[in-house]
Amino acid sequence: MKLFTSIRSQRVTSLGERRLIGRIRGWLGNVCPPAPFGIGDDCAVLPRPGRSLLVTTDPVIAGRHFDAAVPARAVGAKLLKRNLSDIAAMGGTPRTAVVSLALAPATSIGWLRSFYAGLAQCARRHQVKVVGGDITQAPDGFFGAFLTLLGEATAARVITRQGARAGDQLYVTGALGGSRLGHHFTFEPRLREGEWLARRPEIRAMIDLSDGLAKDVRELVPPPLAADLQPDEIPIAADARRWARRTGGSPLEHALRDGEDYELLMVVDGRRPADGLLKNWRQHFPRLPLTRIGRIVRGGSAKFRLGANLLADGGFEHLRPDSARDRSR
Ligand SMILES: [Mg+2]
Repeated sequence: MKLFTSIRSQRVTSLGERRLIGRIRGWLGNVCPPAPFGIGDDCAVLPRPGRSLLVTTDPVIAGRHFDAAVPARAVGAKLLKRNLSDIAAMGGTPRTAVVSLALAPATSIGWLRSFYAGLAQCARRHQVKVVGGDITQAPDGFFGAFLTLLGEATAARVITRQGARAGDQLYVTGALGGSRLGHHFTFEPRLREGEWLARRPEIRAMIDLSDGLAKDVRELVPPPLAADLQPDEIPIAADARRWARRTGGSPLEHALRDGEDYELLMVVDGRRPADGLLKNWRQHFPRLPLTRIGRIVRGGSAKFRLGANLLADGGFEHLRPDSARDRSR
């Protein structure tokens, strides 16, 4: 059997990311425990005495996640930040990373030095130690850096994607959309916020928004539940409006679909009044809005209540034949 095929129906793109992950889970069988201990959450959770260990991994690939216009320092920082965001989504603290490189022979030493300067500066800020990795030669023109990040739970519990119930509320940090105008490199992983939220009993489930609200919200709201989103309440970034003027799309569409927001989307227990949560939030994070954007309803097979047409094809999907770039989980 060959590695690559010209037959469309036999290509990974015919499955898309979600179904491919399902296949991989099947191929692994009982080697892959159910989420969050195996595939399926922002990090894998490794239970241990005391605080659970968290593991996540994400790459940056030249031509896919960045191009020649992006400074090497920003690429190095982003490699770590997209992993940090996954630790934040579970309310964890990052600790240790390993970085593997796949380098074409012509890779510039100067570029790589700047890449590591950006990575080291970000690691210092977040007190992450880089303790190893691997280097392998890649075919001409290829650059890939793959980072695996270990962290640990900061609270007694880890917040997973599971736990939403009908009647619960959906909240999001910050503002969404237009990430391509710079936010996808300049974003701040919401680590402090994630740690704080993990200690709040109101929070039932959480995810970081990497692929776009329209797609990522599905991970928190499995059928037969549905998300009843309020379009007027969704916080739209100024860059989403700017970007919409260029694309001719609507700012709301960009807020739903662009991805790479790296904000936190959470499910808040509908039986507890949220006033205390919001008041405390404003005291701790006065500059970052926390906004209610909808609620969770029993939806049967119904689509999201917010314009089914807007949400029908969701956010960014990896491994689509036409997908222009990649996002992290
Ligand atoms: Mg994630």
